[in-house]
Amino acid sequence: MRNYLTYVLLLLSVFVSNHLIAQQIYSNNIYPLTGFGLPLAIEPPALAGSFGELRANHFHSGIDFRTNQRIGYPVYAPADGFISRLRVQNSGFGLALYISHPNGYTTVYGHLARFNPKISQIVKDIQYKKTSYEIDEFPAGDLIPVRKGEVIAYSGNTGSSGGPHLHFEIRDSKTEATINPQLLGMSIADDIPPVIHAMYVYRLNGKPFNEFTPKQYFQVIGSMGSYKLNQVSTINLSGEVGFGIVVNDRHNGASGNNGVYAIELAVDGNTVYTSALERFSFDHSKAINTHIDYPTYMRTKQYIQKSFVDPGNPLQIYFNLVNNGRVTFNDGKTHTVKYTISDARGNKSLLAFNVFANPKAIINTPELPAGINFAYHKINEFSTEEVKVILPKGTLYNDLNFLYQKTAKPLQNAYSEIHHIHNSLTPLHTGFELWIKADSSIVKQSNKALIVNTNRSSQGGYFENGWVKAKPRNFGSFFVTIDTVPPNIIPLNIANGKNMAGISKMSFKISDALSGIKSFNGYINGKWILMEFDTKTANLWHVFDERTATGKHTFELLVVDMKDNVKRYAIEFYR
Ligand SMILES: [Zn+2]
Repeated sequence: MRNYLTYVLLLLSVFVSNHLIAQQIYSNNIYPLTGFGLPLAIEPPALAGSFGELRANHFHSGIDFRTNQRIGYPVYAPADGFISRLRVQNSGFGLALYISHPNGYTTVYGHLARFNPKISQIVKDIQYKKTSYEIDEFPAGDLIPVRKGEVIAYSGNTGSSGGPHLHFEIRDSKTEATINPQLLGMSIADDIPPVIHAMYVYRLNGKPFNEFTPKQYFQVIGSMGSYKLNQVSTINLSGEVGFGIVVNDRHNGASGNNGVYAIELAVDGNTVYTSALERFSFDHSKAINTHIDYPTYMRTKQYIQKSFVDPGNPLQIYFNLVNNGRVTFNDGKTHTVKYTISDARGNKSLLAFNVFANPKAIINTPELPAGINFAYHKINEFSTEEVKVILPKGTLYNDLNFLYQKTAKPLQNAYSEIHHIHNSLTPLHTGFELWIKADSSIVKQSNKALIVNTNRSSQGGYFENGWVKAKPRNFGSFFVTIDTVPPNIIPLNIANGKNMAGISKMSFKISDALSGIKSFNGYINGKWILMEFDTKTANLWHVFDERTATGKHTFELLVVDMKDNVKRYAIEFYR
């Protein structure tokens, strides 16, 4: 009996160590086991994307379940609750569902192929009522209750998805903060530790980080959790430095690279920096651009995660900071530096090296070109007779030496000179106000005016009192142009007089070269019909239903761009 008990305990401890590794929580937040089941029945569950993974301009807000490169797997409610939000978007999450649960959490399902029949009908009714494909509805609690295990939808690849998968989130229902599902008892086996690729040293010398900050690259070698610098045991450093690291994680059953959970940096055994992706607010997600070395990302698309925090960084993922992670070496002694990288299952990788504080090893930060000082914690403005720039509070992450110049007007379709607003290597948290004085010759077509960058990518905008005003998301080089060209419509399987009997849907490709598509509306016999759109493929289609009887019909499609240029396509067809 006693042996049996020992055996059971042994089994239990093996089970606990393999399946329920308690990940370290650095904050004061409590992460209860929610009792949520898995949303897919694919065994074993595997992640194609991790929580907080680094993506362009955002941290990944959930986990991506692999669906074997296919769509159409049933998605199950992980617990009782009710559908609290129904969302259909041309891009973003595509078809998405939100379930509010009585335990205070909301689960989110993105890129769905379709909803269950009951929800599909409700969504279609809303779309017809609002005459809009895109909807964002918050149904009352009693309208669509769901039970644990009920099929709510089918996995897909809609919206801005790069391949079939299920995007899954757990949010705090009150604050909408998104939380790492792997901290809330979502058990997904993984015993592969993170991989460390490279380490960088930045010579900060008390100055703000920017594209001029000198940086040194160190190759990292190793495997299975144990890493070291290649052919270097001691680095000579002097003055104030910051460290940066290139890491990713691999998951059991997944071929791609995912993100890590936590990065800890310790000097002489004392932690000076920790980042941990427990949760974040959507308002802060764009601050990924200050979490990483953004100038390097813009030049090479490499993600170096800085281990020092810029003063305007709003993210609440940092813990145990000493001097914001900036470390000064000036005592002539040798110090140990250690990185500990962990994934959300508690698998760890280590990188350790020595730093000799050598006074001869100073590298100065270069003097910046003469500019205007913008303080990160203030509203900043710059203006001339021809341009006005306003940065609201919270736009900058660091103090900035702001630079401006202008160059000659482009030859074609330009109504101003080119205004170079600092440069695109400085990350901005929010957009900024940009006003450009337009040539007086624009007056006849001022309602078609907009601002573009030098790649002729639209920044939007409108004409007012001689100025064109827009809100670009990034610094760059901008000028005023006009868009007078309507969108393009290409019918794929329909033509005037065609018999569409036995064909389930009519399909088109639509596009707009400059300002972008504002709306599309289809009408059969003068009545609005639901047309579905997918931004990433530019496909627009209508699935025939009981609204279109057999016989002869008229069809009209109107596609309008952001400057109200209209393209009309009108035919007759049979059904
Ligand atoms: Zn995702």
